[in-house]
Amino acid sequence: MSHLFYQTRDRRPLLDRAEGIYMWDVNGKRYIDGSSGAMVSNIGHSNPHVLAAMRAQMDKSTFGYRLHFENAPAEDLAAKVAELSPEGHDKVFFVSGGSESVESAVKLARQYAFVSGQDSRWKIISRSPSYHGATLGALALTSYEPLNAPFKPMVTAMPKIPAPRCYLDRDNLSDEERGLRYADMLRDRIIEEGPDSVLAFIMEPVGGASTGALVAPESYYGRIREICDKFGILLIYDEVMTGVGRTGKFLACEHWNINPDIIATAKGFGAGYVPLGAMTAKQHIVDKILDAGGFQHGYTYAGNPIACAAGLAVIEEIFRHNMMENTTKVGGELLAGLGRLMDKYPFIGDVRGKGLLTAFELVSDRETMTPLDRNLNAFSQLVNIAYERGLIIYSRRSRGGVEGDHFLVCPPMITTSEQI
Ligand code: PLP
Repeated sequence: MSHLFYQTRDRRPLLDRAEGIYMWDVNGKRYIDGSSGAMVSNIGHSNPHVLAAMRAQMDKSTFGYRLHFENAPAEDLAAKVAELSPEGHDKVFFVSGGSESVESAVKLARQYAFVSGQDSRWKIISRSPSYHGATLGALALTSYEPLNAPFKPMVTAMPKIPAPRCYLDRDNLSDEERGLRYADMLRDRIIEEGPDSVLAFIMEPVGGASTGALVAPESYYGRIREICDKFGILLIYDEVMTGVGRTGKFLACEHWNINPDIIATAKGFGAGYVPLGAMTAKQHIVDKILDAGGFQHGYTYAGNPIACAAGLAVIEEIFRHNMMENTTKVGGELLAGLGRLMDKYPFIGDVRGKGLLTAFELVSDRETMTPLDRNLNAFSQLVNIAYERGLIIYSRRSRGGVEGDHFLVCPPMITTSEQI
């Protein structure tokens, strides 16, 4: 009997070792890590350069509390992240995961309003569906019914606007018109809420688990930035899943030339080697808060020297081996391959994505995008067949029937065309 528990009683194979894009269980069975875990192991497993950097740091020190000591790996990694971030993002706040990163972004935005004489601003508009993390603050921004339902009385749900799931629309609008239509829902919602009460808008630039690699039309991104500027609202990009190369750019915001006010990253930073994330913000936001007495927020493990040494080595490896170029190339091949499967199988309703963040959605009727019949266990059968054949992909089954049943196919950025 196991004394462990996670979400459900489901049990999975016992992991033995992992290397590159492969993982082996204790019985010697090999699996392709087709979703990099939960879109985490971006540079593959057991990278020798990262392991060596961690070992070297371990021999020096494993922890220095941030209020007692600075440490060189944290300083160096912050400099690197600032260099790779959009203009003005010169300040980097380290955390140990995605939920912490989003919480930090939210609290930075709120404290900025608080110290700037804009105390009335506290609402953060987000999209539905969306996933922004497991902690109660991040849950207030998340819109995914099964996750929200038990905690509703405890959390002040923030206003939501529909995510631009254009593949569900049956109108005659062009892509550009659709993008603008969805973005303008933010404007309408701000007006409805009262512009002086709205603090920020948060979005995943390419949707993650909740929407299955949702990419908005080009026109959406710029219009959202314009609307935020018009109403003096901070734009927060949740790049926890998209950041650090996963979509073929270091940050997904680069695809549309958007400079958000605050960016939250995690997953691919530690890349499965360490718990690590970073929140960056435009310098004037951070300065305002620090000048007013300090950011009232922080985590014990923030800026851990082993984590930061690993994070730095991860970034070095991404550039040394041109992993972002490879991501764009093999990501295109993967999407084309999924498209061919869609031609073949009517139960695939849509394929989508960017770089190596791709997904396919299962439906019972493609014309109407009717979700899978709840009484069929086709979804879990597919998960099990994949396991049996040695492939792990990330599955997200919609329980309310509104979010969609999809699989994320997101192998590490070192995956070759042949492996795709
Ligand atoms: N934000 C997004 C977009 C995510 O995809 C996730 C995790 O899947 C999170 C936040 C939360 O990250 P974590 O699970 O590391 O707390």
